Amino acid sequence: MSEIFRIAIDGPSGAGKSTIAKAVAKRLGIDYIDTGAMYRAIGYKANLCGVSAEDADGLQAMLDTTDIDFVQGNILLDGENVNDKIRTPEVSMLASKYSAIPEVREKLVEIQRGMGSRKSVIMDGRDIGTNVLKDAEYKIYLNASAEERATRRFKELQEKGQNQSYEAVLEDIKQRDYNDMNRPLNPLKKADDALEIDSTGMSIDDVIQAVIDCVNK
Ligand code: C5P
Repeated sequence: MSEIFRIAIDGPSGAGKSTIAKAVAKRLGIDYIDTGAMYRAIGYKANLCGVSAEDADGLQAMLDTTDIDFVQGNILLDGENVNDKIRTPEVSMLASKYSAIPEVREKLVEIQRGMGSRKSVIMDGRDIGTNVLKDAEYKIYLNASAEERATRRFKELQEKGQNQSYEAVLEDIKQRDYNDMNRPLNPLKKADDALEIDSTGMSIDDVIQAVIDCVNK
C-alpha cells in the first residue's frame, strides 16, 4: 500500500483500543495516535493549574498556551513526557469531564485532524469515525461487556500497584460510558459505516487479526 490511509478505532473505555491500535500500527508500519491521552493531558493540566471546567475564559487561556505532541509513542505536554502521570483513575475521570467542553474538543480535534492528514495513521478514541476522521478508509467500533472491560482494567491497575477494588473500577467504567455516550458534543457512538468487533471472550491476537483482515479486504 503506497497511498495514505487512515484507520479509525472507537469504542468505550477498556475495550482494548490502545492495545489493539498499537499492535496494528506496528504490523502495518504506520503511526498510532492515542486521542484519549490528549484529553487526559488536558484534564491533568487543568486540574494542576486549578482551572475549573466551568471557567470558560480560564480554560481558553490555558488551551491557547498548551502544546501537545507525540514523540516515539510518548505524549508530551508542554514538552514534558506525562505518559505515566495521566494513566490514573483520577485523571481518567478528569479527562471524561473536560472532554465534554466544546473549547477543549475544538482544540484537540484540530490537532488530531492535522496529524491524520500527513501520513497513514491508526487513531483511537470516541469520535474518530464519526467526527475527527469522518472519511477514514477503515472504521472499527471495538466493544466488550462492561464486566469484561472492568476485569481487564482492574488487572492492569493491579500490575501498576494502584489499589482500586473491582467494584470501583466497574463503577468508574459505567460512569465514563454514561458521560461519553450522553454528552451533547460528539458523543461516543458507532459510525454507520464502522465494522463492529465485540472482543468479549476474544484473545488480543484474534482482535488484531480481525482489524488487519478488515484493512486487507
Ligand atoms: O481512551 P481513554 O480512556 O484514554 O480516554 C479518556 C477519556 O477521554 C474518555 O473517557 C473520553 O471522555 C475522552 N475522549 C474523548 N474523545 C476521544 C478520546 C477520548 O472524549 N476521541
